[in-house]
Amino acid sequence: MAEAEFNGKEEELKPYLVVDVKEMCKRADALRAQGKRIGLVPTMGALHLGHLSLAIAAKNECDVVIVSDFVNPTQFAPGEDFDKYPRTLDADINLLSKIGADYIFAPKPSDMYPEGFDAKVHVGGVSQLLEGEFRPTHFDGVATVVLKLFNISRADVAYFGQKDYQQVQVVQKMIDDLNVPIQIEMLPIIRERDGLAMSSRNQYLSNEERKEALVLSEALAKAEEMIRAGERDANAIYAEMRAIIESAPSAKIDYMRVADPKSLQPLERVAGNAVVLLAVRIGATRLIDNKIIDRK
Ligand code: AMP
Repeated sequence: MAEAEFNGKEEELKPYLVVDVKEMCKRADALRAQGKRIGLVPTMGALHLGHLSLAIAAKNECDVVIVSDFVNPTQFAPGEDFDKYPRTLDADINLLSKIGADYIFAPKPSDMYPEGFDAKVHVGGVSQLLEGEFRPTHFDGVATVVLKLFNISRADVAYFGQKDYQQVQVVQKMIDDLNVPIQIEMLPIIRERDGLAMSSRNQYLSNEERKEALVLSEALAKAEEMIRAGERDANAIYAEMRAIIESAPSAKIDYMRVADPKSLQPLERVAGNAVVLLAVRIGATRLIDNKIIDRK
């Protein structure tokens, strides 16, 4: 808490750091009992403006804001970047102090997954496509930790970024199928000035790779331009996107998809609204981005 600042109220240091799962449950219970509306922002830390935009929305709409800061081991497969994922708790606390978030919940993996932990939330359908094809265990890990965080925080509403569009669809499906008593909100992607979607993983990029990473947002802009100009054939869109992405020497495409916004099933022809999603590796760094194309 060394770097957190007083927030005008002398008696309260915000955000209040909670590391213990039971303590977070107790505090959240007490807040609910007082009739407070609780907003949860689930994150893996290494906070940037994308995360802060969610916390600010929560602050505007709720009485209490809990930001969880937990690099969830179960959503990483062996060989992925769990060990090197940036962990910057002091800086995260400092940033959250500027916007008046009330709690930062940063549990230890051993407290979230004590010995003998043996439950898993599996959402079928939408979790099997796209990211699910490349990271087959990822969404089980996400759904499980998100449900735990919903339960621990007793939140009324949770805030997610469009940056992880498929994740939002998976979480919404879990909520619908399991009657989870929470609402979720999806907020727009916050980008760097040159268009790169903000991501904690951007810091893995070398200077050269950082420049090459612009091909993601450029390819999405091209897709949008084509659709708005009347292009209906997804393959024609993929061809243009591919040309842009492959102009970057270290870019490798995992997928590009023009999809139905809800089911994420591929659209061969773009008739109504669509979402264009892609995952591209720039050197060793895997980046995702997407664009909603609302044609109302
Ligand atoms: P992460 O810490 O990457 O798991 O992200 C935590 C939450 O922040 C997720 O709901 C993300 O979609 C959201 N998020 C991450 N990057 C951005 C961004 N550039 N703009 C908006 N939301 C974001």
